[in-house]
Amino acid sequence: MTLANRLTAAGFIVLLAALAGGGLYGYERISALSEQVVTLDSKLASTTALLDTNIAETNASLSIQLQKDKQNLAAQLDGVQTQVSSVTGTLTDIQKLSQLDPQLLKKYSKVYFLNENYAPANLTLIPAADDYAANRPEQFLTKAWPFLGNMLNQAQADGVPLYVASAYRSFGTQAALKSEYTVTYGAGTANQFSADQGYSEHQLGTAVDLITTGMGGELSQAFDQTKAYAWLADNAYRYGFELSYPRGNAYYVYEPWHWRFVGVALATYLHDNGLHFYDLDQRVIDTYLLTIFDGTSAQPATTTPML
Ligand SMILES: [Zn+2]
Repeated sequence: MTLANRLTAAGFIVLLAALAGGGLYGYERISALSEQVVTLDSKLASTTALLDTNIAETNASLSIQLQKDKQNLAAQLDGVQTQVSSVTGTLTDIQKLSQLDPQLLKKYSKVYFLNENYAPANLTLIPAADDYAANRPEQFLTKAWPFLGNMLNQAQADGVPLYVASAYRSFGTQAALKSEYTVTYGAGTANQFSADQGYSEHQLGTAVDLITTGMGGELSQAFDQTKAYAWLADNAYRYGFELSYPRGNAYYVYEPWHWRFVGVALATYLHDNGLHFYDLDQRVIDTYLLTIFDGTSAQPATTTPML
């Protein structure tokens, strides 16, 4: 071996040794780093788990808080809506009342005066078929007419002849009628069966004198012996009508033919309690004004049992 070769060999050995040492160092370094990675990895995992738990808890408490806020808001909204609807309801009632004629439920007969200028808002001509004296047209308050019309139709359907003898009478007509009666019967007698002008329910357009066949066209107390009267006593309230002057009343003679429209609710209350319109305090009567025209679809007179 030449010197050069020897040197080369030695260099090679040194190089090998260096490489081996370097390799060993590198391996140790990598292994340490790997351990670090594992540690960090597990730290990361536990931190993530902790974070997840925290997030879940935060979410839960946030969600509970949000739920509470939502419920509070809903409750507040509900309260506001209730207030709004009650205010709206009151406004609707006030508006409705402002369009109703307060005279419609006033006590007249010798109690409350309607002046000569008072006239019903609208009058409807009663059909000739319902008018006893077809040559003398009769009128009724337009908004109350459907109730009277339904009542007369139902009576007819039940085989009860029932007709209108007299309905709306103006202040002037009532005055003329009263003076005619006064001339014929004398003031004392006339006062017992005929109202002075301004005190007649007929001026309202909601009072009606009813008649049946076989009465000779006369309004008489014998009307209460007819099946027409019996039918009215059982059914008129369903259509909002009441008997204003029952036997023994403090105002006029007994008038079984004279019926006044007061609305289904009030007429039903009077019927169910055996009371009469003039028995009630005006303040009680007034509470029925709001609903006076409610319930046009009257109940049938006879009810069939449900099987
Ligand atoms: Zn009358």
